[in-house]
Amino acid sequence: MDLDSLYQEIILDHYKHPHHAGLREPYQAEVHHVNPTCGDEVTLRVHLSGRDADAVVEDVSYDAEGCSISQAAASVMADLVIGRTVKDASAVHQEFLTLMQGRGTVEPDEDVLEDGIAFAGVAKFPARVKCALLAWMAWKDATSQVVDHDENTTKEQS
Ligand code: ZN
Repeated sequence: MDLDSLYQEIILDHYKHPHHAGLREPYQAEVHHVNPTCGDEVTLRVHLSGRDADAVVEDVSYDAEGCSISQAAASVMADLVIGRTVKDASAVHQEFLTLMQGRGTVEPDEDVLEDGIAFAGVAKFPARVKCALLAWMAWKDATSQVVDHDENTTKEQS
């Protein structure tokens, strides 16, 4: 099996059997993001254990509609961030962003991105990059709503 077929299979698998899908409680922030070029939409909630960068992502729940790439990306994103600290999850987000902005020239690191490597093929198609990044942008937005607002008190809580 060649790499493109393998990547396609991973994406299809997440699309058909999305991980962590559905909207759950509790949550501290909810956002709705749209990718107008493709028609993808995602409603996403985050539940963090605290309000600083060391807080753990307890849960990410979402309702995604749209193309297979955007829905699979939400599933993979949830897998990658849940259970990590905000700081570590942000580092993974950055790695995924670098891959997606590399127009197919960046070699994906499976140790960091796990199933996210499957989007390496998508990076060659600028029109689809936004599909793959939609859920990540929503996660970043929702997380920053929880974390940034209490910057001055973050270190005193624990
Ligand atoms: Zn799309």
